[in-house]
Amino acid sequence: MQKKTTEEEKKEQAVEEVKEQAAEAETDTAEEQTKEAADEAKQAASDKPAEEAPETKTETEAKAGDKTEAEPQKKPEAKPETKPEHRKKTKAKNEPKKAKEGTDEQGPLILFEGVGKIYKTGQIVYEALHDVNLEIMDGELVVILGPSGAGKSTLLNLLGGLDGATSGKIFFGGEEITAFDDVRLGKFRAHDVGIIFQFYNLVPTLTAYENVDLMQDLGVEIMDPLEALKMVGLEDRKDNFPSQMSGGQQQRVSIARAIAKKPRLLLCDEPTGALDTNTGREVLKLLQDQSRVRGQTVVMVTHNSLFAEIADKVVMVKNGTVVEVKINKEPKDADEINW
Ligand code: ADP
Repeated sequence: MQKKTTEEEKKEQAVEEVKEQAAEAETDTAEEQTKEAADEAKQAASDKPAEEAPETKTETEAKAGDKTEAEPQKKPEAKPETKPEHRKKTKAKNEPKKAKEGTDEQGPLILFEGVGKIYKTGQIVYEALHDVNLEIMDGELVVILGPSGAGKSTLLNLLGGLDGATSGKIFFGGEEITAFDDVRLGKFRAHDVGIIFQFYNLVPTLTAYENVDLMQDLGVEIMDPLEALKMVGLEDRKDNFPSQMSGGQQQRVSIARAIAKKPRLLLCDEPTGALDTNTGREVLKLLQDQSRVRGQTVVMVTHNSLFAEIADKVVMVKNGTVVEVKINKEPKDADEINW
């Protein structure tokens, strides 16, 4: 009798040990990712040839029979997604936080499952989005393309937690943001999302430096505003007010403001819409570099189909839903684009 109890105790102890090991393995994941990124960066530095990149294909083709790219899945499966050359060499910073329990680090950063959005104004009901399925990988530059009124901005607003979905689920880093309460959603917006608007949205009475520094008032930890301004090449304009800067410079300040808090997701709504071609190209390059050099996930809404050429992934939106998703094997550099 006594012996049996001891054996049972041993068994329980063994189970506990296995559980502890599993928990430790889970905790190590983030460190391993950082190590992997450092290894990748080393490989890039030594210019060692990377693996073969995948063929260009539409994801809709790849998943014949599917309406859109994303299979409904709460816990994304590990996908052996081979990265194109330009990404292999650059992914070093902004590593994703450890995936939540039950998710996989290789899974998408963002996942839309059957998402719909209905606007109600008095008696008028308008379905802006329906049955949107979409996945966005960490560090991707994604261009959302479609005609005016297609639902692009609505999609972007849902991505950034600026607006709530009427139906379906949205996951970010394995967490369901559509289930967040207002407080949690506010934190998500403040910490994880940086937004760049077509008309910059700078405070006219504040200098470039102060516009960036403003983010601290939200209780968000940010980098030195001067460092952020340096990253967009505007450190010498730090004391200028928006009215003393060109449109392109103002947009660069707004990019500095957005990236100063090192958000995991950078959302851009027609970021070059108010700029001439040359200035717009500089802004596009800056945004592309955020993804390529800093490994940041950048999602850009535009009606300009030329911008699709610089994206890793192009999401076509029409009549309130995603009609096609294309993967670019070799996206162009932003400075190659002419419009
Ligand atoms: P896009 O960005 O592709 O031009 P939007 O997402 O802005 O399209 O809008 C999609 C549709 O939803 C449009 O018909 C628009 O009028 C409608 N819509 C957008 N926002 C609202 C709102 N707050 N209230 C009512 N209808 C809206």
